[in-house]
Amino acid sequence: MSAFQKETVLSVKHWTESLFSFTATRDPGFRFQNGQFAMIGLEVEGKPLMRAYSMASANHEEALEFFSIKVADGPLTSRLQKIREGDIILVGRKATGTLITGNLLPGKRLLLLSTGTGLAPFASLIKDPDVYENFETIILAHGCRQVSELAYGEHLVENLLSHEFFGPLIRDKLVYYPTVTREPFRNRGRITDLLESGQLFADIGQSPLDKDTDRIMLCGGPAMLEELHAMFGARGLVEGNHSQPGHFVIEKAFVER
Ligand SMILES: Cc1cc2nc3c(=O)[nH]c(=O)nc-3n(C[C@H](O)[C@H](O)[C@H](O)COP(=O)(O)OP(=O)(O)OC[C@H]3O[C@@H](n4cnc5c(N)ncnc54)[C@H](O)[C@@H]3O)c2cc1C
Repeated sequence: MSAFQKETVLSVKHWTESLFSFTATRDPGFRFQNGQFAMIGLEVEGKPLMRAYSMASANHEEALEFFSIKVADGPLTSRLQKIREGDIILVGRKATGTLITGNLLPGKRLLLLSTGTGLAPFASLIKDPDVYENFETIILAHGCRQVSELAYGEHLVENLLSHEFFGPLIRDKLVYYPTVTREPFRNRGRITDLLESGQLFADIGQSPLDKDTDRIMLCGGPAMLEELHAMFGARGLVEGNHSQPGHFVIEKAFVER
């Protein structure tokens, strides 16, 4: 049995010149926990060309969804950005990753902090009814350079809030906090700075970071992860993993090559 399953692209949406999302069929045997990632890719010259991708769909959904960057000279995404409905993609059979609620200690408020395509695992998690059972409040912060890069997240949150059954359940719990660094917008600045200064909590009218009740998941670029790891460490928060749940968990949104 191959390590990869062939799946059919069902839809593709281009959000900006550098971001797109797509859905694909899902093998009924492909199981994952919300927040995890798998290897996905294309067959190129008879060989699989694979990269890590977070599932942006939730595990109760029939189709798979991914939110992707377009790197002009990127081996995979220079090709992947051209996929169309009906094309075949490869999806690894095994899902993994640290951004799962089981790696966190019990808490009251869940902070999902992302930059760029780091939003993808949280797109999955905010569709998970268990997350709303386990936490009183879920703050989804998404930082980008330009306003246009927020579109996928804005659309996602709007759809969830207006969903006939799910909407009323999450309306009082989910707080969406988009922020932009390079253009005027209602929220401005880097997530790291907005957390450090307390501005993020002031903007949404909530209490400051509290180690006893806040649990945090991070997914973003290397600089953001490094800074927040240091900030949380200095405040006595402990990183969680599969063997020991903690106050926060971290996943890279990409690796510098
Ligand atoms: C755990 C994990 C989960 C990931 N999940 C996703 C996901 O859900 N969506 C997604 O688009 N990518 C994701 N990535 C990145 C992905 O694996 C590839 O790097 C990306 O698809 C580009 O592939 P490439 O072959 O075109 O270029 P690569 O050779 O892989 O990358 C070239 C360069 O592009 C930059 N880059 C790559 N990916 C990104 C990105 N996502 N955002 C900003 N800059 C980037 C980096 O500087 C990198 O050095 C994830 C990576 C990891 C480690």
